[in-house]
Amino acid sequence: MRNKLFYCLIAAVLICAVLVVGLFDRDPFSMSETAMGTVVTVKLYNGTQADAIALFDIFEAIEASSSVNRSSSDAMILNTVGETNNSYIYEQAAICTDIAKASDGAFDFTVGKLTKLWNIGFDNARVPDKKEISDALMSVGYDRVTLDGNTVRVASGQEIDFGAIGKGYACDKAKEFLENSKIKKAVISVGGSLLFHGKKSGGWTVAVRDPFSENGIFGTFVFDGGFVSTSGSYERYFEAEGKKYHHILDPATGYPAESDLVSVTVIADGGALSDALSTACFVLGFEKGEALLIRYGASGIFIHKNGEVSTCGTVDLVREQGK
Ligand code: AMP
Ligand code: MG
Repeated sequence: MRNKLFYCLIAAVLICAVLVVGLFDRDPFSMSETAMGTVVTVKLYNGTQADAIALFDIFEAIEASSSVNRSSSDAMILNTVGETNNSYIYEQAAICTDIAKASDGAFDFTVGKLTKLWNIGFDNARVPDKKEISDALMSVGYDRVTLDGNTVRVASGQEIDFGAIGKGYACDKAKEFLENSKIKKAVISVGGSLLFHGKKSGGWTVAVRDPFSENGIFGTFVFDGGFVSTSGSYERYFEAEGKKYHHILDPATGYPAESDLVSVTVIADGGALSDALSTACFVLGFEKGEALLIRYGASGIFIHKNGEVSTCGTVDLVREQGK
């Protein structure tokens, strides 16, 4: 009898120990690689290297189908042949069409010809002449894309570009993987798009990059988890004749968006959603951007050129000292 009691006591102590250890964060397993044209980092709090590799395989599959910089991708098939039924392309095109409508074309994924013309982020970036821009603008128009069954079709001469949504979409696919795994907590960062998966005691603290300095932090906010995307004019640009040209284009003019913003961070329920919304808000500016975010139940941090900050939704930015 005493023996039985002794073993029960030992078992109880062990169970308590396991529970207590589970309450504290162990160092996550972390892996970084270049993927989707940017640095991708996965941090898995109770995952393994095999899980990280499986996630990178997913990112590679998305890039192989969606990149317009790979001649064999399904996105390139769509741009050249005019249709595809690849599911990654279909899902992204559906979200893009929705945000394009909701933003009145400020977000438009048919800017492919324009983005190739400017080539911002590549060595041969240049300011195109007016005729080139007006020619490329003729191919822009999300309302000429059709989604039918599982097939996406573009109008003759149109080229799509998923640069504004692909990284967030990768976060959506990472979320699906994590939900089907035993991993309870993880952070996935795909360039400017992030996924905070699971609950963290005290919430997740997220740093917003300082658009005015090389690698500084502008401020932080705490939230329960979800998707965060940032679009900023500092991310990709080139200079010509003393002027900076950034990579977020205004589909109405064909030139970089003349916004009074330097960055927009959006917190939303989906990765592709937060990514598309941050690009759209950058083009729209604060007032129209805020209206768009309200429509999607999203929150936003808008940093203006003069350093002022406007927020909407439930986010509360704590500015770093001196910012
Ligand atoms: P992001 O950094 O997510 O704001 O996306 C910017 C990228 O999206 C650019 O590098 C282009 O590939 C593409 N893009 C630029 N302007 C637009 C726009 N107005 N609507 C949709 N995609 C755009
Ligand atoms: Mg985006």
